[in-house]
Amino acid sequence: MLNFNFQNPTKINFGEGQIEVISKEIPLTARVLIVYGGGSIKGNGVYQQVIDALAKHTWFEFSGIEPNPKYDTLMKAQEIIKAENIDYILAVGGGSVVDGAKFIAAAALYEGNDESNDPWDILAKQQPVTKALPLGAILTLPATGSESNGNSVVTRDGTKIPFSSPLVRPLFAVLDPTVTLSLSDDQIGNGVVDAFVHTIEQYLTYSVNGKVQDRFSEGLLQTLIEEGPKALAAETKDDLEVRANIMWSATMALNGLIGAGVPQDWSTHMIGHELTGAFGIDHARTLSIVLPAVMKVKREQKRGKLLQYAERVWHITDGDEDARIDKAIALTEDFFVKMGVPVRLSDIDLGSKDIDLLVDRLEQHGMTALGEQGDITLDVSREILTKAL
Ligand code: NAP
Ligand code: FE
Repeated sequence: MLNFNFQNPTKINFGEGQIEVISKEIPLTARVLIVYGGGSIKGNGVYQQVIDALAKHTWFEFSGIEPNPKYDTLMKAQEIIKAENIDYILAVGGGSVVDGAKFIAAAALYEGNDESNDPWDILAKQQPVTKALPLGAILTLPATGSESNGNSVVTRDGTKIPFSSPLVRPLFAVLDPTVTLSLSDDQIGNGVVDAFVHTIEQYLTYSVNGKVQDRFSEGLLQTLIEEGPKALAAETKDDLEVRANIMWSATMALNGLIGAGVPQDWSTHMIGHELTGAFGIDHARTLSIVLPAVMKVKREQKRGKLLQYAERVWHITDGDEDARIDKAIALTEDFFVKMGVPVRLSDIDLGSKDIDLLVDRLEQHGMTALGEQGDITLDVSREILTKAL
């Protein structure tokens, strides 16, 4: 196992009816900005629960954070923050709202340096965040793990730019699985696949004898494989135990625990971001296309872990090594198809003519040495995209 530091101070409030705890989690003296997206929280009763819980608080609201939150939208929140002396942010939504709220919280107190105090530098120049408003999250879409990590992805001019700081990690998160019952099948599929790929990216590398992390990851993968399809099947779709297991898996997949002390390979996300940026494809639907191709192109380097994945996650014991790996990759693709997401570029009407643009974008964004060994060069990314045709 590699050396690591692990600290995850986000307090999790899990289960039915937990939204009301925000009345105690947020200080009564706070001036709260509730931030949310396009209004799904008004349709499913979450908004009402939030304002009931904050009946004794002073609160304001900022809505309209879109999927893949845009820099320009997030900067508009600064006006109300200044005008109303906001000192606490409450994000209510999916990963886009929580990520957006993180940028809002960091931009509000950004001091910059002698040259510039433009919050854009947090993204463009990766300037460190030294202060941020305190932030809490009510999660409505299990997928990203954003509710208990310090990561955020913001889009400007079609480019997705990540930033990260422990100062934007939510102080608390509310995970009530009942609020996920209003998700569409597409959103459920996307969420399960995103969490699955987050887990794989911290698992499918090379062995450093991180037995604990491996077994946590394998447990999460198996849970998502078992429970994901149940959340789409008519007879089990409203089962709260299914929703609860998916919700907790997605949080555990990206709260820092399974990735501590092990190598990581985020190439699927990085290549996927270009598909979203260039063609507007949903985040998870880019991952389901890229991951199988990464497994195929990097199969020699990942051989040991692919065999472990085949045996422990898919219980494949028959056949020689190559047959077992082939089967594990095929079953991964079947699982994605069951979750209703595409597994080839042709499934979303893209073809070889589109690969140059994607590789150019990877180059522009400095994504020239991806993977756990930093050896996924632009040529290898091209090979991965070609394999995904
Ligand atoms: P999302 O973009 O937050 O939400 C997708 C859609 O789902 C929105 O239209 C939203 O509608 C709707 N929705 C959310 N909860 C709902 C509910 N309970 N019922 C009905 N509709 C609901 O999806 P996401 O997958 O959670 O987030 C994706 C973003 O996270 C991407 O920008 C991605 O890059 C980023 N990401 C972040 C991390 C991280 O570690 N921070 C990791 C991976 C990905 P409303 O807007 O109306 O609410
Ligand atoms: Fe993701």
